[in-house]
Amino acid sequence: MARITQLLDAGPTLSFEFSAPRDEEGAERLRRTLARLSTHRPHFMSVTYGAGGTTRGPTRDWVQTIRDDFQVEAMPHLTCVAHSRDEVADIIKSYQSDRIENILALRGDLPHGAQSSTQAFDTAAQLVDFIRQRADWDIGVAAHPEGHPMAASVEADLAHQTAKLRQADFAITQFGYRAEYYEQFVNQLDARGVETPVIPGIMPPTNVAGIERMSALNGTEFPTDIRDRLEAASGAAQRREIGVEVAAHLGRELLELGAPGLHIYTMNFARAASEVAAALGWTAD
Ligand code: FAD
Repeated sequence: MARITQLLDAGPTLSFEFSAPRDEEGAERLRRTLARLSTHRPHFMSVTYGAGGTTRGPTRDWVQTIRDDFQVEAMPHLTCVAHSRDEVADIIKSYQSDRIENILALRGDLPHGAQSSTQAFDTAAQLVDFIRQRADWDIGVAAHPEGHPMAASVEADLAHQTAKLRQADFAITQFGYRAEYYEQFVNQLDARGVETPVIPGIMPPTNVAGIERMSALNGTEFPTDIRDRLEAASGAAQRREIGVEVAAHLGRELLELGAPGLHIYTMNFARAASEVAAALGWTAD
């Protein structure tokens, strides 16, 4: 298959993100979603990891399914929160035997108030180091152009992200709706001499309550003009149309700014993601 840095070198990449479903119905839906989205010939797809290891087996299984059944490069996410060094070393070994070539290294979050007695790593940067010593993979990290909500200060956050991105081969951002935040972030990295490609994440805004909940957790601005349009929509079909239009417009702006690719958060649904990809020229077969 392929390394993400090589794919990025060849031109803007299209990627989709999924999470391992919890039940058989969700699994069937994800299979249908993968079947439809793979026809856009995405450069890669990624599968999230349940912080603490809740989807350890399923994440690995879905990565294999994407590669074997849909012939698309697949990247597992791995969070280090609550894992011991041995657990992470075992996970790395299992992916080495699967011959994966790319991984997204994250800290993850424990449920509010929870603590772990086994946790060996406090930050994604430590996880990147640990993986680097063991595996010859392309290692990606999360980027937070609007800042991380738990950061001590804007300056500390930027310093941390700068150092983390220096260690990484590429980064994927938290979803956002303002291209200027992405532009400002990459300019700040550039001014600090960091050349790591930063792929912006886009989530088509089709569900007001869902976006509101997620943006409250991760500190992303959910612009009032977008929310107002969605709230005035006559129903789900019109909300999807608006969501696709907003995401495609944002995608175009980001590519014009020089973004090295676009990463679409699908929530395991095909239609909006497929329409955004097609609107941006990545048409289906
Ligand atoms: P880190 O980079 O370790 O830290 C996040 C922030 O904490 C930093 O930006 C900084 O503000 C602060 N910080 C950390 N260390 C320091 C330091 N030494 N000094 C100063 N400040 C510091 N979560 C999941 O559970 N599973 C997933 O699969 C998953 N996938 C994701 C994919 C993407 C593309 C993104 C953007 C996020 C994803 N997340 C996932 C969410 C992620 O786990 C959370 O955002 C988490 O809170 C931070 O993870 P991180 O890897 O950015 O952590």
